[in-house]
Amino acid sequence: MDRKKLTIAIDGPASSGKSTVAKKIAHDLGLIYVDTGAMYRALTYVALTENVNIKEEQELLELLKRTEITLKKEGTGQSVTANNKDVTEEIRQNNVTNAVSIVAAHSSVRQEMVDRQKKLAENNGVVMDGRDIGTVVLPDSDVKVFLVASVKERAERRHKENTGKGIFSDLEQLKKDIAERDYKDSTRETSPLKQAEDAVRIDTTKLTIDEVVEEVKRLIEKVSAH
Ligand code: C5P
Repeated sequence: MDRKKLTIAIDGPASSGKSTVAKKIAHDLGLIYVDTGAMYRALTYVALTENVNIKEEQELLELLKRTEITLKKEGTGQSVTANNKDVTEEIRQNNVTNAVSIVAAHSSVRQEMVDRQKKLAENNGVVMDGRDIGTVVLPDSDVKVFLVASVKERAERRHKENTGKGIFSDLEQLKKDIAERDYKDSTRETSPLKQAEDAVRIDTTKLTIDEVVEEVKRLIEKVSAH
């Protein structure tokens, strides 16, 4: 198998370690990393800035159609732009995080995002992370992984990350926010967060990032050997 054409889908709930793991694998294997959550976040940020009502599906869809979102590799990370404006930092702010699940629940918005994501994977090897990659965006991907971890562990990870960045952080509030985002993402009508039948579930609660990366690489080795 041509390793450069590998497609790897990494799904799972908020803060389950998807993006850190996906980034590392993409880097180590020389594949493109696509953070689909960043695309929903970029649209949410633009909507909030332009006072577009995020509950109005049609308005949001129109906004998305006139918003070009790009993901670019930058060092070990990725930069995100919306209509050429760098929004990498802005899309991680709490107001965006708390609104993004409402934006992502609109089916026509999802359809447009999925079309864009499929295009990014055309003729390219990719590691793509999100909620519906193995089920909807890349159902034929070579390796599908579904990462999970307890709410407590995920809130603690996010808390550490925030504190490390000097961002105010309330652990109890984080637990509530994560549980609420899980609920919204898994109960929405269109493409709810759900493990693909052929995905491998990895519980990362007691694993380090490197251990998860090694596990995913073992799965990749298996399909590459065929
Ligand atoms: O992965 P991240 O936490 O940045 O994603 C932000 C939000 O975007 C998720 O909570 C979810 O509502 C939405 N999302 C989605 N489908 C994806 C990726 C993200 O619905 N493929």
